[in-house]
Amino acid sequence: MEEYSIIPIKVGEFLAIEKSNLTYQLDCGQKLVAPIIMYLIKGRDKAILVDTGASDEDWAKKYHHGLRRPPELHPVAGLKKAGVGVEDIQFVINTHLHWDHCFNNSLFTDAKIFVQKREMEYAVSPLPPHYVYYESHQIGMRPQWFNGYERIEAVDGDTNLLPGIDLVTIPGHTPGMQGVLVNTAKGRYLIASDCLGLFENWTGNGIHKHIPSGIHFRLDEYYRTFEKMEKICDFVLPGHEPRVFDHEKYPY
Ligand SMILES: [Zn+2]
Repeated sequence: MEEYSIIPIKVGEFLAIEKSNLTYQLDCGQKLVAPIIMYLIKGRDKAILVDTGASDEDWAKKYHHGLRRPPELHPVAGLKKAGVGVEDIQFVINTHLHWDHCFNNSLFTDAKIFVQKREMEYAVSPLPPHYVYYESHQIGMRPQWFNGYERIEAVDGDTNLLPGIDLVTIPGHTPGMQGVLVNTAKGRYLIASDCLGLFENWTGNGIHKHIPSGIHFRLDEYYRTFEKMEKICDFVLPGHEPRVFDHEKYPY
């Protein structure tokens, strides 16, 4: 089985994210500085990108909330630092279609883009509190993932992408959320994205074994997802966790 390494790339930083958006009903009112993360998976001759980050500072301020993204945190600069050019990316995987995970899909003109069919269906007609996360037409916006739409491969359920890389459905945060299960020299890493905003979502707080995101679609599906994750992976990598950058790459 081919083994890969995973490099987290910071492509911006939310300046003051409401913590309970990440940890459901916990620590309301606390604000966090939280990174926006792309994960680069490197194999012998392959470069796969999981998520493409958020917008620049002006767009984020106008439509969402404060974000810091100096030039060195632009996705192209981040990839370059990891030794990869946009043209080297053969596969882009969107874990889900929230704006801060697919905003730069259009940069990767040589890549196929893998998205769950269920996520695409929901993204065009979400529930009202989720309009802004998808930048949907109901609030007069045009979703960024439409740029690159012609290169999307709609995936339907758990799918083997490459030897050692599987797309696994982990619904809850969104209906069509997918994680990326990666075989490495030290075990199976699940890139869980916003299913786990922080490591705390996975390790729990002593009362709750796992903690769902404050932003979610269905909690019953979320808890089944947690059960599934316990069975399929050895390690998890969250969506907005500062401590991910304690290591340059995984496994470490
Ligand atoms: Zn999200």
